[in-house]
Amino acid sequence: MKMSTIEVELNRVVQPDIGPIVRQPQCVRSDVHSPGTMSLDSDYSDAEEDLSIPTYKATKQAESGNLLQLSRQSSSFSSLEEDSNDDEEEHERSRVGDFFTAPCRAAEQAEEFVKKVWEAGWRVVHHHSLPDWLRDNDFLVKGHRPPTNSFLACFKSIFRIHTETGNIWSHLLGMIAFIAIAIYFVTRPSIEIQWQEKAIFSAFFVGAILCLGFSWIFHTVYCHSQRIGKLFNKLDYCGIALLTMGSFVPWLYYSFYCRLGPKILYLVAIFLLGSACIVVSLWDKFSEPHFRGIRAGVFIALGLSGVVPALHYVITDGFYHAIHCASLGWLCLMAVLYIVGAVIYAVRIPERLFPGKFDLWFQSHQIFHMFVLAAAFVHYHGISEIAYYRLTLGDCLETEIF
Ligand SMILES: [Zn+2]
Repeated sequence: MKMSTIEVELNRVVQPDIGPIVRQPQCVRSDVHSPGTMSLDSDYSDAEEDLSIPTYKATKQAESGNLLQLSRQSSSFSSLEEDSNDDEEEHERSRVGDFFTAPCRAAEQAEEFVKKVWEAGWRVVHHHSLPDWLRDNDFLVKGHRPPTNSFLACFKSIFRIHTETGNIWSHLLGMIAFIAIAIYFVTRPSIEIQWQEKAIFSAFFVGAILCLGFSWIFHTVYCHSQRIGKLFNKLDYCGIALLTMGSFVPWLYYSFYCRLGPKILYLVAIFLLGSACIVVSLWDKFSEPHFRGIRAGVFIALGLSGVVPALHYVITDGFYHAIHCASLGWLCLMAVLYIVGAVIYAVRIPERLFPGKFDLWFQSHQIFHMFVLAAAFVHYHGISEIAYYRLTLGDCLETEIF
């Protein structure tokens, strides 16, 4: 009779509380694994182990707490048998409840902590561990960032070493340099630089700053997710078109300073060509790896469209004048830098020749970035010279049509 009372009490007090405790660790493990849905493989194996340690401990704690509680309850039932005070039983039950839920709370806190650590940290991974949308260059073997799904993690990655570090910093520093030059230029007193010059040069500054800005931001958030990577990839291509358009404005303006017809015609032409490039860049398929050659070709064609006004100038003013007065030499150097950079980008040398040797530094994309930067600085020098020459000649005596 006594035993049956104990059994009744056991069923009444223990069983309702055991259920959640036993189930909770299972729930915790499935939750903790959810961030790991981003293709966990060998590169993540250590992280996964790390991740499971606190959860495993929490599970064990919960289980040991359960066993402890069972023994504790057995002793409490013997006292129940001796003294069946209802208040004491109620108090004991709430204490039992607290004791059971404490390990659960600990497990939840451990889970929360691990989630935060997981979100904050990632390790560079091998190329074969990347999802398809992050596999842009097969010749860069190691040191890739995994998908982060977090802008914060992407921007923090600027300060870590991986395949994109060089790409990010080359254009981030370039953008800062051009912002500084632009601020210096437009804040000169008007007696030194007039507002027309400031406006014309600003087209180039805006193009350069947007191009370099879109570029480093794209390289930073490229690993966020497929959608974000694609969106910023398009902006990156638009930036190249904007820089090309912005570069043409001061050059055409000062080369055909007193010739309204060609000036308007070529400015409109480069605006239409650049806009076409932007439209093509926004096309989804354009950013796929097998369109690399076409991408390079489209932008080389946009740059080479400058050959027409350059030839026009050589024919009307002569080669010597074009070199000494219209900065044609600097313009040619700029074109060579862009073209060589684009070719290096397209053929992926040197990493194609030595796969895995240029994963972090001196890969083709970084070289391409440096060529773009050099070309932008060369162009700034060229348009400064041509503007200086043109402005020292004074106003146009007459405005020619051609
Ligand atoms: Zn780039």
